[in-house]
Amino acid sequence: MQLDLFRISRPLLVPVALIVGTALTLAAAPALPLSLVTIGPALPWLVLITGTGLSVMFNRGRAFIAFLSLLAAYAGIGIAAFLGPQGFLEHAVFTAITLLVPANILFALLYAERGVYQHRNYRWWLIAASEIIAVAWVASAGRNPLSGTFWQDLLEHWLLNSPPTPLAGRILIATAFVAAVWRAWPAPPAGAPRPLDVGMASLVAAFYIACEWFATAHAFGAFITTAGALLLVALMQESHRLAFYDELTGLPGRRALEERLPGLGPQCVMAMIDVDHFKKFNDTHGHDIGDQVLKLVAARLAQVSGGGTAYRYGGEEFAVLFPGRPLEDALRALEALRASIENYGMKVRSDDRPRDGQAGSQQRTGPAGILSSPDKVLSVTVSIGVAERKAMQNPAEVLRAADKALYRAKEGGRNRVSR
Ligand code: GH3
Ligand code: MG
Ligand code: MG
Repeated sequence: MQLDLFRISRPLLVPVALIVGTALTLAAAPALPLSLVTIGPALPWLVLITGTGLSVMFNRGRAFIAFLSLLAAYAGIGIAAFLGPQGFLEHAVFTAITLLVPANILFALLYAERGVYQHRNYRWWLIAASEIIAVAWVASAGRNPLSGTFWQDLLEHWLLNSPPTPLAGRILIATAFVAAVWRAWPAPPAGAPRPLDVGMASLVAAFYIACEWFATAHAFGAFITTAGALLLVALMQESHRLAFYDELTGLPGRRALEERLPGLGPQCVMAMIDVDHFKKFNDTHGHDIGDQVLKLVAARLAQVSGGGTAYRYGGEEFAVLFPGRPLEDALRALEALRASIENYGMKVRSDDRPRDGQAGSQQRTGPAGILSSPDKVLSVTVSIGVAERKAMQNPAEVLRAADKALYRAKEGGRNRVSR
């Protein structure tokens, strides 16, 4: 339970730190040195333009829409404040951004991520252009006596009345937030949420604070910067995750293992793990079921005891490192792991079962409640080779020794731990 709390709260570390940090900086602003205060106005531009550029480089459509919406919102408020501070113009632009920014993000979240260079992305540009034209048109109406008071009256409506954030804006922001959390919520047993999804939810939260504090000097710009920075950090975390973590199993990958090796101390145990007869398993049950089984095996490996860390080395091969641990501890943990995998009846979806839960259960249970297409329960075994680091031996050599031990485990009849 405690561990779960930690797992859930860890992704919130950066968002909470940045939001609280921004609030503290704002509170301390009068006492800050001039050199810090003067870079303030440039920060939102810097962060939002960098974020837009990076989302194009990384081909992240949702992030691109969020950055561009914030950029347009910040620019719009700037222009309005310049042309007619505190007047109808600024009021209208503010109301518009509290509606349009969350609406854009909500739309982006409802669609699957298709990247920036997606087929038919001209639709997004059409939406963006119509939003900008509509806002400019409404905002300029206040300066034009011929258009009457329609728009002014509309902005006095209880749904749109501001400041602070209009009710309609709050509802949209809350909905976008819920959608972002829904996207971020990890599907068990997948593990941690994707950083980019968490980043989007925290961006919406920071944007909400920016809107609520619109009337407080510098608060809007500061929290728009925070919103952008949160997604920017998430973009970086996401690229790190993609580079160092294996997509199928969620375990750190071979690159992560190789980066870890040079930093290991003199006391260290390494294990190589290989699924037995997995080619035959694939041939019998199909590659998709093979993938599901690899995932389930990896979930077991991730829980290895004795201070071990599991990596997906490649294919159906894994490595476990026990830094700073004696051989006996590692052997005990690996033997427990081998036995737990041997005795693990893995429920997998059969090929023809739809992924959609409801349709799946309808298909499984016939009219008389008889299982017509049951889940298969399968099991596999693994062979494990172990090596302890000896004096003067470099970590790559230890890994090779573990691989040789693995070969002995296979030769000796598989489903065993060999040294
Ligand atoms: P052994 O007991 O000697 O290890 O036999 P094996 O069949 O497991 O050995 P081999 O290394 O020849 O075969 C490994 C097979 O693992 C080949 C491939 O079909 C399968 N495999 C590797 N990576 C994946 C993967 O990502 N998904 C699936 N489904 N299968 C994979
Ligand atoms: Mg193999
Ligand atoms: Mg194998």
